[in-house]
Amino acid sequence: MTMPAAAAAALPALAARAREVAASPVREILALTARPEVISFAGGLPAPELFDAAGIRAAYDRVLAERAATVLQYSTTEGDPALRAAVAGRLTRRGLATGAGDILVTGGSQQGLSLLATVLLEPGDVVLVESPTYLAALQCFGFAGARVVPVPTDEDGVRPDALEELVLRERPKLLYLIPDFQNPTGRTLPAERRRAVAEVAGRHGLWIAEDDPYGELRFEGDRLPWISSYEAAADRTVLLGSFSKVMAPGMRLGWLRAPEALLRPCVIAKQAADLHTSTVDQAAAARYLADSDLDAHLLRVRTAYRARRDALLAGLPAALPAGSTWNRPEGGMFLWVRLPAGHDATALLPAAITHDVAYVPGAPFYAADADPATLRMSFTTHTPDEIAEGLRRLTLAFG
Ligand code: PMP
Repeated sequence: MTMPAAAAAALPALAARAREVAASPVREILALTARPEVISFAGGLPAPELFDAAGIRAAYDRVLAERAATVLQYSTTEGDPALRAAVAGRLTRRGLATGAGDILVTGGSQQGLSLLATVLLEPGDVVLVESPTYLAALQCFGFAGARVVPVPTDEDGVRPDALEELVLRERPKLLYLIPDFQNPTGRTLPAERRRAVAEVAGRHGLWIAEDDPYGELRFEGDRLPWISSYEAAADRTVLLGSFSKVMAPGMRLGWLRAPEALLRPCVIAKQAADLHTSTVDQAAAARYLADSDLDAHLLRVRTAYRARRDALLAGLPAALPAGSTWNRPEGGMFLWVRLPAGHDATALLPAAITHDVAYVPGAPFYAADADPATLRMSFTTHTPDEIAEGLRRLTLAFG
């Protein structure tokens, strides 16, 4: 017997945080750049032809041939011991003494950010960020219900004097920084500011999230110390790392290095989120680090990115309206352009797409007071010739 259909009741509402965190307004426009004829400076992607696919495949083959029963099984939340040891060894060799026990393997550094938000942030807590900053970090803090406040920032990143003032006024719980080749600006925080930031955090008792997915992509100049390495903030700085830009983002592997007081809660939060990061992916990454020469691979990547950055810098003066300014990052994947006052990079984007070229407007990267004349250009995914052609098209769009 069939039952009479009951009137369908209304569904309960989504959580407020799901209604309030907006999708990026330029997402739909940028979806149009997937056409193969578009030369895109928009994406934040590593160059796919530079992935060491053969080396990574050999690593997967080997762990599956030798240890299938282990690498296809559930594993610990903290992560593969060999991978944690390899990360700790790399950090220690670069001057940041780290034990394998200080490392939690994550599903990309994005998960590291979301674990931090879970264990640290109550709705209404203040998070300080650079202005502008990484869009998905803004979304992550937004989902936690945090109040995100931008720190006054200049061409060298956050201004420590302004930071201290803001800390006294806002009593933030967390400061989120990308000190090397920042996304979206490509800026690098000078060493003396890193020290000053660590001292402000030490004096006023806030946590620092030091997000460093791009540090290994330095192709000029000297490597700078991590904020985590300054004594003043050693017990309150979490370093977030990623294999996305050094190995492959599709593997979704990252890590965080945190003081014990924060590492344990992050492990428990990760257990609740996904139990652990893929066992086989972690094992393959550890095998890759042991069997392949990551530094030789990174040298190839950096050499290519440097030539691509140079092609972009060479073509920009002719491509942009007179009076535009931009920076010259010593590494990473992006540079930052400011069009002359009165120009609106979002309004100009459809014209660029009509000419089969794309960039990302800067506005969505600001937590507040967006500068509409700014835009981000990535130099990683096209050859120097394609970059030159892309810039010719941009001239037409801006003409
Ligand atoms: N932080 C920053 C600043 C990024 O630019 C990105 C990705 N582009 C991430 C974190 C996330 O990286 P992952 O692939 O390791 O999750």
